[in-house]
Amino acid sequence: MSDRYAVIGNPVAHSKSPSIHAEFARATGQDIDYGRIEAPLDAFAASVERFRGSGGKGLNVTLPFKQEASRMCVRVSSRARLAQAVNTLRFEDSYGDNTDGIGLIRDLSQNLNLPLNGRSVLLLGAGGAAQGVAGALLESGIGRLVIANRTVPRAQALARRFAGAAARGYRALEGERFDIIINATSAGLADEAPPLPESLFGKAVLAYDMVYGRDTPFLAAARRAGARTCDGLGMLVEQAAESFFVWRGVRPATRPVLAKLRGS
Ligand code: NAP
Repeated sequence: MSDRYAVIGNPVAHSKSPSIHAEFARATGQDIDYGRIEAPLDAFAASVERFRGSGGKGLNVTLPFKQEASRMCVRVSSRARLAQAVNTLRFEDSYGDNTDGIGLIRDLSQNLNLPLNGRSVLLLGAGGAAQGVAGALLESGIGRLVIANRTVPRAQALARRFAGAAARGYRALEGERFDIIINATSAGLADEAPPLPESLFGKAVLAYDMVYGRDTPFLAAARRAGARTCDGLGMLVEQAAESFFVWRGVRPATRPVLAKLRGS
């Protein structure tokens, strides 16, 4: 019987992870079966235990359970500890990892060919996704990290965890300049955008939205101002590849899968 994995979240019906992992398995000759589990908001742990008890080998964890997942692990990677959030569970040793940060860094530096060294980065949001990538961004050699969030105390609390990060509210960004603006909010899912000053966007800026598969108001505003834009599909594929490696010890090629998903 195939080794069983799944993505667990709420909602999770839209997730592309099953098709990405099916492609990885086919390309690497790994015998896995990867599904999706919608866990009730108040029954994440019970849903995980049910899957584990039925012989499941591991899970990807998505919104809104990443922090809860980190509390369920006996051992977590240093990057998951830094993030205080887990997106990859491996049951055999009750291990938790967070592959979002490395996924974003690989998408920016390898797929988008963007050197990160010394860059000034604005990270929008302070939820699980922002927590997962803040440490990886700082470790990648960027020159400056500012975290902005609708609920400013959450941005402040996140920035306090990372030496070298600063926090702002959206209004306080007027007059600031950044090379890269990463939208790690879920606003795009509701066709909304963080209320950013238009002056932030310009031709030299990369505006990156972690939401994928739709043209969000954030990306549309950035494009109107002449900025380079990108959605989070590459990050999704890269973080999935790292999870696949955590489970199977095999690193799948990502470019063919990304090209297929983009229909190119
Ligand atoms: P989360 O923990 O629920 O956090 C949501 C964040 O979005 C919070 O900072 C929240 O601000 C902010 N927000 C929500 N609605 C907003 C609005 N209308 N205006 C401004 N800010 C708003 O979610 P998450 O786990 O961080 O995920 C965030 C997004 O990243 C999701 O859309 C997810 O799909 C995406 N994601 C993509 C990848 C990928 O591989 N591409 C990986 C991880 C996550 P408050 O704190 O003020 O509520």
